[in-house]
Amino acid sequence: MKAGLPKREPEMLARWEAMDLFGRLRQASAGREKFILHDGPPYANGNIHIGTGLNKILKDVINRSQQMLGKDANYVPGWDCHGLPIEWKIEERYRAAGKDKDEVPIVQFRQECREFAANWIDIQRAEFRRLGVLGDWERPYSTMAPEAEAQIVRELGAFLMNGALYKGAKPVMWSIVEGTALAEAEVEYYDHTSTAIFVRFPVAEPSHPALAGAEVVIWTTTPWTMPGNRAIAYGSECTYAVVEVLAAGEGSRARAGDRLVLLADLLEAVCAEAGIGEWAVVATVPGTDLAGTICRHPLHGRGYDFPVPLLPGDFVDTETGSGFVHIAPGHGADDWELGMRHGVAVPETVGPDGLFVDTVPLFAGRAVLRPDGKEGDANAAVLEALADAGALLASGTLVHSYPHSWRSKAPLIFRNTPQWFISMETTGLRETALAALDATRFVPASGQRRLRGMIETRPDWCISRQRAWGVPITVFVRRDGGEPLRDPKVLDRIAEAVAAEGADAWFTSDPARFLAPEYDPADFEQVTDILDVWFESGATHSFVLEPRPDLRWPASLYLEGSDQHRGWFHSSLLESCGTRGRAPFDAILTHGFVMGEDGEKMSKSRGNVIAPQDVVENHGADVLRLWVVGSDYAEDLRIGSAILKQHADIYRRLRNTLRFLLGNLAGFSDAERLAPDEMPELERWVLHRLVEMDQSLRKACDAFEFHGLFGELHGFCAVELSAFYFDIRKDSLYCDREDAIRRRAARTVLDVLFDCLTAWLAPFICFTAEEAWLARNPGETSSVHLRLFPTLPESWRDDALAERFAVLRRLRRVVTGAIEVERAARRIGSSLQARPVVYAGPEYHEAARGIDLTELFITSAAEMAEGAAPGDAFRLADVPGVAVVIAMADGRKCERCWQVLEEVGRRSDHPDVCGRCADAVAHHRAAAE
Ligand SMILES: [Zn+2]
Repeated sequence: MKAGLPKREPEMLARWEAMDLFGRLRQASAGREKFILHDGPPYANGNIHIGTGLNKILKDVINRSQQMLGKDANYVPGWDCHGLPIEWKIEERYRAAGKDKDEVPIVQFRQECREFAANWIDIQRAEFRRLGVLGDWERPYSTMAPEAEAQIVRELGAFLMNGALYKGAKPVMWSIVEGTALAEAEVEYYDHTSTAIFVRFPVAEPSHPALAGAEVVIWTTTPWTMPGNRAIAYGSECTYAVVEVLAAGEGSRARAGDRLVLLADLLEAVCAEAGIGEWAVVATVPGTDLAGTICRHPLHGRGYDFPVPLLPGDFVDTETGSGFVHIAPGHGADDWELGMRHGVAVPETVGPDGLFVDTVPLFAGRAVLRPDGKEGDANAAVLEALADAGALLASGTLVHSYPHSWRSKAPLIFRNTPQWFISMETTGLRETALAALDATRFVPASGQRRLRGMIETRPDWCISRQRAWGVPITVFVRRDGGEPLRDPKVLDRIAEAVAAEGADAWFTSDPARFLAPEYDPADFEQVTDILDVWFESGATHSFVLEPRPDLRWPASLYLEGSDQHRGWFHSSLLESCGTRGRAPFDAILTHGFVMGEDGEKMSKSRGNVIAPQDVVENHGADVLRLWVVGSDYAEDLRIGSAILKQHADIYRRLRNTLRFLLGNLAGFSDAERLAPDEMPELERWVLHRLVEMDQSLRKACDAFEFHGLFGELHGFCAVELSAFYFDIRKDSLYCDREDAIRRRAARTVLDVLFDCLTAWLAPFICFTAEEAWLARNPGETSSVHLRLFPTLPESWRDDALAERFAVLRRLRRVVTGAIEVERAARRIGSSLQARPVVYAGPEYHEAARGIDLTELFITSAAEMAEGAAPGDAFRLADVPGVAVVIAMADGRKCERCWQVLEEVGRRSDHPDVCGRCADAVAHHRAAAE
């Protein structure tokens, strides 16, 4: 086995492809229990990075280990192809060429998006394969394949038919810069400086006598939403105070005699903010007594002449503001829901371009945000109008967390728009999804609580986007009444056309193709919005798992980064529960994110970015794979050059273990094999350890948790094998007669070790395990990956022997330590010159009975002494009761085995070697003749 992974791995990949390893695996596992890890599709718009590398390697390790446990772990990788990032790239090209997107026919634009995605699929496929990821790379899935698009259309049809799909007017997170509604997963929160104002609402109809002539004070950080105000929310559990202003400070907008209604607990803060010097509390009013109070809009008499009712809301903030929340049902989720419950109108105030629409008094044409994402003139105009009306109590600025577009990084607004929604309630989707979570296994278990919390509180699913690159919302709406057409025949025609021609068919066909003969196209409007890409990827189970007989529905496992609780896990759960009544997965596994070595997020500016392509080129994919299995992926993972070097060292130790086995198994044949009961205890101890390791391995594979197992496996190879068992048995392997029982036992155990370790390491270091396996099992169609994990006889387990060896290994540590001291002081050259005299308690005498101590210590002589140890004997603090004195072995050094023995020189035919060596040489000569 030669080093040089970066060169040898591609040769191995070519060999697997030539022998069709993946096809052979499928053939070999036909009829077995299926283990189907359904691939969460990466987005096809760039090279893979370390996070996608981690994800795919982890999937591969799990697939390979399940396969070797005896299952059929067929893996079909896939790609997510539609959506804004690709559309954005193509638009950028147009802009660079001075072209306008809207002048390009939509089908041509979509074709360019398709080619862009297809190109990146090919690049990513090559990059994933290079990492050793085994899968159906010849038949992957993609969300832009016509059959996938057709099934997505059918899935949407199921929601249309069961009544969950509806067209609503609802505030959505809207990006003015991109001109579209955004999904939750497309929103990022950054600090933003907003104008915060306190505004007075005069009480018109008091529900409590103390409110007569008073003004309710609200607080908002979005002054531009004031024209959309239609109500005020209060907390039923809160206590409010009616305050009379006695004296206002200089520059204050308050006047002596003003009566203000505020949350009692925030009274002082608001008065300080508004520059109110002296005040008196004239009454306190419990929140429940506010029910029924009607205010006037602060711009009453200027076009805002409608009642503003006070309504109870459970979201009222009692820490900041005034304890009253101004409700603009078109500009917030809480606002909308509260308004809907109380029959409050939802006005349309802001257009898709961020400008107030023509029907808005005073502010028509003012901009909330400009097309470049900067603040427009709406806030200032609203502030001025409020001040002019005497309604502004105070204003200031506030830095707070505010939603931004993940793509353009521009601030977003909540805007009332006509959109398509999947209801969480109409068909009981929320309850179905929550029940499905209870039936799902989560690794780690905390994921369940997380996803549950999101499903419990999420609003209806907004699935429409005003974009071009995606699967269209294939719905016709009646011009008369606005009801969507629910007809399975029409749906079938649409799906058939999409299956044949792709989703372009929706844009290129005459509506009569789908509507005739039953309906007159003139009676319907065709929807041109496209679907939320999360709906598409949430539906992958329906066009990947269900139709392929070589897979299974539901999937055994979904495995992605923990951010997918918001994304793919979430949308897959809702999509499948809405159409099939259960989750499309039996289990969910999440992993953390990859950080730089410094624990910081990777970024070019920090210079801590590690690219998987570089790791593969410099160290080999097996070293990157070792990093994955050696890391606790439940947490965030770190990677950097020092961490990689550490894993390269670990890799070298594993490789050396395999090399030792190969080197010492040359010429091994079945005739040499011994049964365990014919073996020395040392060999039987190794067999016992193998049974224990096998148990750990199976437990780890079932739990999908590898870093503990990997640590154990590495310790087994480096400490128990290399530094103990191999170290002791080198003498026997190199010097014993070929037919000596001890040597035959050792070689039998090395053969078993080779069998076990090549199989156990195969899912981890797939290239190196294969290389080792082929060295002893050559052949065109031979592969370690076609094997199962070996089944070890339970009769190898010997707990009493294991306990005894634990005692002996402690004893050995003290002896080895004592010899090291002698060697360091140059009193001896090799341990074979030493004769340790061991003083130890009865448990050590008991454990050593029948054991060849010279073999265990790798010395030429040894003795267990009785009585008290001399004061200067060597001791180890963590092995109490053991003391060792190193004496010199008597005799001459055997020139062949280097043992120092009195018998050396006694045989005249072999004057320079010991009896064992003389015998071995004679035997060898006789065998050669
Ligand atoms: Zn010898």
